[in-house]
Amino acid sequence: MGCKVLNGRELATRIKSELKSEVEALKKKGIFPGLAVIIVGNDPASRVYVNSKKKACEEIGIQSFEYALDEDTGEEELIGLINKLNKDDKVNGILVQLPLPKQINEDKVINSIDPKKDVDAFHPVNVGKLMTGNPVFLPCTPAGVMELIKESGIDITGKECVVIGRSNIVGKPMAVLLLSQNGTVTVCHSKTANLEEKIKNADIIVAAVGKPEFIKGNFIKPGAIVIDVGINRLEGKKLVGDVEFETAKEVASAITPVPGGVGPMTIAMLMKNTVKAAVFQKEGI
Ligand code: NAD
Repeated sequence: MGCKVLNGRELATRIKSELKSEVEALKKKGIFPGLAVIIVGNDPASRVYVNSKKKACEEIGIQSFEYALDEDTGEEELIGLINKLNKDDKVNGILVQLPLPKQINEDKVINSIDPKKDVDAFHPVNVGKLMTGNPVFLPCTPAGVMELIKESGIDITGKECVVIGRSNIVGKPMAVLLLSQNGTVTVCHSKTANLEEKIKNADIIVAAVGKPEFIKGNFIKPGAIVIDVGINRLEGKKLVGDVEFETAKEVASAITPVPGGVGPMTIAMLMKNTVKAAVFQKEGI
C-alpha cells in the first residue's frame, strides 16, 4: 500500500492564489484588507514566522503593517499599541507573534485584541464561538490541518482521531474541529497513560507535541492518516516534526512532511481570516 504525502506547500499556494483573486475583486469594491503584525524581542524563530506572514500578505495583495518592539517592552505599551490598532480602519487583523517576553502576560494581551480583528482566533470570545459551533474565525493551525485531512480524501465521520498535545493554540481547538466533523476524539498529553496504545487505535493522528520524531512508525495503525504539526530544529539546524517520517510513511496511508506540511497551511489560513475580517468589518458580521 502506497503512502500519500500531503503537500501543504502546494495546497497553501492554491489557497493563496484564490485569495489573491478575491482580494483583487474586493479592492474594486473599496475593500483593502490590512494585517498588523506585532513582534516583541529578537526570537529568531518568531522572526522567521513574521517574515513568512508578511511575504504571504505581499503575494496576495494584503497590506501588512509591522510593529517590531524591543525585548524589554512593557505590557502597558503593547496593550496601548493594540488599542490604537483596534481603532485603525486600515487594520482588519491584528496578530501578536507568540511567545512574548516574560514581563508580559499573554492572556491580557490576547484579551485586549478586538475579537473582530482577532485573526489568530485566540481571544476567549472566538474560542467560545468555536466551542459552541458558531466560529467566525477558525484558529489557523487546526484549520490548516482540517484542509490537509480533506486533501487525503478521508471522511472524518466516525473515525477514531487521536490528538497528541493539549495547548490552547493547537491541541484543544484541533479536538473541537475534529469533533465538529463527527470524529471520535481522544486528546493525549504529557500525563496520558498508555500513549502508544491510544495512538495505535487511531485512524487519524494529529501530533502537536514539540518533541523531535517522538512518534515512530511502529506506534501507528496500518493505513492511518498522520498529520505532523511539530516543528523542531535539530542541532545541525535540520527541521523535523514530531513524527519519525521515514518509519511512519511505511505504515500510514497519508502523511504530512516537515517542512512543507502544516506550516504553510497555517499561514494560508491566517490570510483567509484576514480577508474574512476585512469583508466582515466593511459589510457587518
Ligand atoms: P506546547 O508546548 O504548548 O504543547 C505541547 C503539548 O504536548 C502539551 O499539551 C503537552 O501535554 C504535550 N506533551 C508533552 N510531552 C508529551 C508526551 N511525552 N506525551 C504526550 N504528550 C506530551 O506546544 P504547541 O504550541 O501546541 O506546539 C506543538 C508543536 O507544534 C511544536 O513543535 C510547535 O513548534 C509546533 N507548531 C507548529 C505550528 C505550525 O504552523 N506548523 C503552529 C503551532 C505550533
